[in-house]
Amino acid sequence: MGGGAAGIGAAGAAKQASPDARVQVFTEFEDVGYSPCGIPYVHGREIESFSGLILQGKEFYEKAGIDVRYETTVESLDVGAGEVVLAGGERVGYDALIVATGFTYADPGVPGSQLDGLHYVKNIRRAMEWDPILDQAKKAVVVEASPLGLEMTTALAHRGLETHLVDAHPWALSEVADPDIAAPVQASWAEMGVQMHFNTRLEAFLGSTTVTGVRTSEGEIEADVVVVCTHKTPNNALARAASIEIGSTGGIVVDERMATSRAGVFAAGDCIEVPQGSTMLPLQGLSGSHAYSQGKVAGTNAAGGQRAYDPVFVPWGMVAGKWMIGGVSFGETTAGALGIPFHMGVAEGISRARYYPGLHKVRVKLLAEPGSLRLLGAQMVGGEGIKERADFLAMAAKKGITLRDLATMENVYSPPIGALNEPIALAAQNGLARLARGPGS
Ligand SMILES: Cc1cc2nc3c(=O)[nH]c(=O)nc-3n(C[C@H](O)[C@H](O)[C@H](O)COP(=O)(O)OP(=O)(O)OC[C@H]3O[C@@H](n4cnc5c(N)ncnc54)[C@H](O)[C@@H]3O)c2cc1C
Repeated sequence: MGGGAAGIGAAGAAKQASPDARVQVFTEFEDVGYSPCGIPYVHGREIESFSGLILQGKEFYEKAGIDVRYETTVESLDVGAGEVVLAGGERVGYDALIVATGFTYADPGVPGSQLDGLHYVKNIRRAMEWDPILDQAKKAVVVEASPLGLEMTTALAHRGLETHLVDAHPWALSEVADPDIAAPVQASWAEMGVQMHFNTRLEAFLGSTTVTGVRTSEGEIEADVVVVCTHKTPNNALARAASIEIGSTGGIVVDERMATSRAGVFAAGDCIEVPQGSTMLPLQGLSGSHAYSQGKVAGTNAAGGQRAYDPVFVPWGMVAGKWMIGGVSFGETTAGALGIPFHMGVAEGISRARYYPGLHKVRVKLLAEPGSLRLLGAQMVGGEGIKERADFLAMAAKKGITLRDLATMENVYSPPIGALNEPIALAAQNGLARLARGPGS
């Protein structure tokens, strides 16, 4: 149930584990197997057209023996009978069900949220219909500096619109990124003409039938288009109604096989919660790559195979404004808020040899467990190489690598792609030096 990253990953894996299995995918949408992640870049004209985002055509799934039921809504789950009930009443039996119903954007909870012209970036067809409106639009408001909010703010400013970002928190991506990581991004947005409204609550969408702006705690902002980028909430109403256990984040509870509390029912993707590796705190609403991997685990097990999903260390990264930002699990702000003790090392290095054109600064912050100095998390901002560092540091955290290991890590030194001193090693060395200097340093 679901044709996003998790559902499609699950269908493919089920077919691989059991080629004779009859695999059906139900989706409310007109398409499956496209990359929603690319949509902001088409709106921003970094990518020319939507066509490149379609990964596979309908024939691909037919040939693979996967029966996709497009524009087909599942209305309820009858787990006792082993059936899903479709809109219109058709009942479809199953031996194993995978719930991959994904996310919905949190309701902004203010008047006017049904006005025409409000855009929620998700379904590629709606994005294609909406995109031409941007050719005429002059002013845009982006609601919330969430990951998608950062991408859409950057995209709309790049497209030449006067772009306003409204967020109730004090800095961009404040639930994930530290303020010193967000600061260069915000400075670059200012250079791009973005008007930032932090510490500003959204109070209403304005307009009679079509949105004409927003009212905030700091005044009104006129807009031709408003993009709602509130955080992702698990879409699990059907699972809840079917008495499938829901966890403290609102996500469906699964074990390492992606099995839910009801026999024969698996779940994967943004509708579930999974444990963070060093704290075992449940996390929900991770990335498309997490959803796809979880789908593959669910699909394999649902079809009789054996596959397990490990707790996560959450490498993340993105382009925002003129910078790349990223990290692993917790930053200074989130660790502090959660009461997780940590020792920190910070350094500013460079991405290429200091004499090589196009080098960028790379700021790295490493958080380690006091005592063992095992890596707990990281935060980074720079001009390049952030993704690779985040992937590496997530694996380092998973494998129990310490600041001592990282301080003496080997690294590639080649003028166009890497400096003599790797910024990660510099941050780890800084952490050790601060430790040697004693408390308060
Ligand atoms: C604009 C955008 C940008 C993104 N950028 C990135 C990125 O840069 N990197 C990254 O890793 N991830 C990115 N993502 C991925 C995203 O954040 C999610 O993690 C991912 O989409 C989750 O996949 P999913 O399959 O769990 O759920 P979804 O993608 O939400 O899919 C849910 C599916 O369930 C179906 N469905 C729901 N309810 C029913 C029902 N009752 N009956 C039938 N079908 C139903 C829907 O039709 C849909 O097919 C982006 C997503 C969007 C929308």
